[in-house]
This record gives sequence, C-alpha cells and structure tokens, in this order.
Amino acid sequence: MQTYWGIDLGGTKIEGVILQVERGTAPTPDAVIIRKRIDTEAHNGYDHILNQVVRLIDLLKAETGLTPERIGFATPGTFDPARQTMKNCNTTSLNGKPMKQDLARLLGVPIELANDANCFALAEATLGIVPDVVPDFQTVFGVIMGTGVGGGVVVRGRDGAPFVLNGLQGIGGEWGHNILEENGHPCYCGKRGCTEQVISGPALQRYYQQLSNEQRTMKEIMERYHAGNDLAASQTVNRMLEYFGRAVSTLINVLDPDAIVLGGGVGNVDLLYTEGVERAKKYVFNSGEIRTAFLKPKLGDSAGVFGAAML
Ligand SMILES: [Zn+2]
Repeated sequence: MQTYWGIDLGGTKIEGVILQVERGTAPTPDAVIIRKRIDTEAHNGYDHILNQVVRLIDLLKAETGLTPERIGFATPGTFDPARQTMKNCNTTSLNGKPMKQDLARLLGVPIELANDANCFALAEATLGIVPDVVPDFQTVFGVIMGTGVGGGVVVRGRDGAPFVLNGLQGIGGEWGHNILEENGHPCYCGKRGCTEQVISGPALQRYYQQLSNEQRTMKEIMERYHAGNDLAASQTVNRMLEYFGRAVSTLINVLDPDAIVLGGGVGNVDLLYTEGVERAKKYVFNSGEIRTAFLKPKLGDSAGVFGAAML
C-alpha cells in the first residue's frame, strides 16, 4: 500500500490527513483513513507552531501505526525558492523563516510546501470536480475569490501526474495582485487597483457601500440584485461581472486551461458561470469563443488538506 500524508497549516487549526491506496493507483476522497485537527496556537510563535505540527504527526503515527515517506503542507503564504524562506503569510510569525528545512529536520522526511490556493487547485484537479468533467486535462486554474483573490496552476506532467506550478519566485497563479483598475483602491501589497481590490467580497461590499451608504453582505447584495429594485446592487454586480470577465480573459489568454475551478465565497455566485463567462468572451483572444470549463469546486473545506497530501 501507498500512503499520502497532508497537513493544512492554518492560522487557527492544523489539520492532518492520510490517504491510503494500492501502490500505483490514483487516490480518491474515499481513501482517507484518518483525519485529525489540533489548534495552531499561533500566538505562541514560530517554534511553538512547529512543535504543534510534530505533535499532530505523532498523533497520526500513533493512531495508524504508519510512518510517512514524505509529507505535503498547505501553508498560508508562499515558500520563496530562492531565499528558502516563507513570505506573504498572514500568520506573520512564519515570514522570513526557513520552514521547509526546519520541518524536514524535525520530521526526518522530505517536505513539499505550497500555499493554500495552489493546494485548492491541486485537490480539485486530482480528487475534486475536474476528474469528473475533464479527466484528460492538461492545465487547470484554481481560483479563490473570497475575502482575498488568489489562484493556483496545475499542469499534468509527462508521467501523467498533475503537479503545481509554484514558479521561479513562488508566485505562480497569483492573479489577485495583477492590476485590474487604473488608480483603483490601495492594496496592502503596495499597489493600487489589484484584482483583489476590485472583485473580492470585501472590495465589492465596499463599492456597494460607496454607492448606497449602506453596509451589506455579499449575500444580501446578490439578493437585492435579483429582487431588481436596488440600483447600487445592480451596479455592484455589473462591476463584478465586467471585471471578472476582464481578469479571467487574461488567465485564458496566458494559460488557456482546460478548466477553471471557482472557489471561495464570491466564486459561488452562479452568475459568474453564465454572465461572467459571457463578459470574458468580449476580451479573450479567440473570436469571442470560450470552451474552457468553469466548474464549482467539490471538496469544500477539505481542499487544503487533500491538496497538501497530493503534493
Ligand atoms: Zn495587491
């Protein structure tokens, strides 16, 4: 038998999973033999977080009698391959730390790291919705459109196994910080008008509030849009669709993926799959035609830990 060990290292919880399959066969979500989570206790600092990871792995070993050959990690930020340290983590005590080497040393096995958006893309491409719809895909783009906007690129290798394109600088798939609106809202990354500052949930809610002086959730804005009697809701949804179309057309022009999986709270909005794609057709370099499959994710909150295992 062959096992896949994945750890999703989050700011509040660390979750671990082991998948077990016959050697040489592809895992499915049914292959889970154990799943466990403990608190990260991130406020206690970097060394404590590492200790919590070791504790979780020891629990998984003790309960299954198995030992890992290698372990994959979903991380909140990015591993910078050149500096061999973490960056862009919202669990800030990880930033600047050589987490990959530290974990490999503490756990005594090879480690793979990828950020949670990349793990989402890999999980949906291997264990999620993509195999159901486009089993012979070459390229998949996984979109996270929620509180932030992120993404990950998964490519099928010559050996048939899908892998994440982390990139030279570890920023492969980070379309959320492409500039989408000239002189737009300032972004924490230092630029203005990043995609995340236009089509994330908070950005759309902010736009609605500017128009209406009322604070509403994305769900309420969508309800008011469908009710058809709120001009600010209609302008906000129109803005979302138009800028989604522009942003997605650049993804398609660069990667031309077989499938785009839309995750995150905003990614769940049905209109993106219809009218959003229609808007993208205006901008794509393909005579107004888009055959790319736009898919709703299947794995929900499990995508991080499954993607980590598949690394
Ligand atoms: Zn930005």
